[in-house]
Amino acid sequence: MKIEPLISEERIQGRVRELAAELAAKEMSHPPVCLMVLQGAVPFARDLAGHLDMEGKFEEVAVSSYLGTTSAQRNPVVVGKLPESIRGRHVLVIDDILDTGRTLDFLHRTLVEQGALDVRFCVLLRKDVPRVCDVAVEYVGFDIQNEFVVGYGLDFQGDYRGLPYVGVFCPDGSAEGL
Ligand code: 5GP
Ligand code: MG
Repeated sequence: MKIEPLISEERIQGRVRELAAELAAKEMSHPPVCLMVLQGAVPFARDLAGHLDMEGKFEEVAVSSYLGTTSAQRNPVVVGKLPESIRGRHVLVIDDILDTGRTLDFLHRTLVEQGALDVRFCVLLRKDVPRVCDVAVEYVGFDIQNEFVVGYGLDFQGDYRGLPYVGVFCPDGSAEGL
């Protein structure tokens, strides 16, 4: 098993500061309920919040679609309950990565059904893959190629979330010759 560094801690933190400035300029005139998607978005959302002078609500939602594999064939489901506070509010969803788009498309539909005024998205990473679901994402940290990445919240079977950087996860041997 090997992790090939892709985005350094320094680049992540610099981009997070830029995104926070963008969010402050564009979103804070109508303070949204921020909704972070557990568990992958936790470090990103925490670091973003650290730069935003936010008095509003910061909520969390758990969506399950990956259960110990590196592909998302399953449909997403909310684990537990959606926070009540989203009713009649602008919602800013903060997630780790846009891949097929299933998760964010599902959240968009679900949040609107539950009474959100509107839903915007901020993701750390956007993968260069054809989307299964077409989702408009307003804020993107980095565009990356179609590789399975870990670190800075992103895991492989629960490991690597604590890395301060993002790296490409290479199963045994496959990093050879890169
Ligand atoms: P989507 O529903 O867009 O296909 O995928 C969204 C979720 O799949 C992400 O929030 C993340 O939890 C997981 N995911 C997608 N790509 C990756 C990846 O490269 N690495 C990790 N660790 N998780 C991923
Ligand atoms: Mg996720």
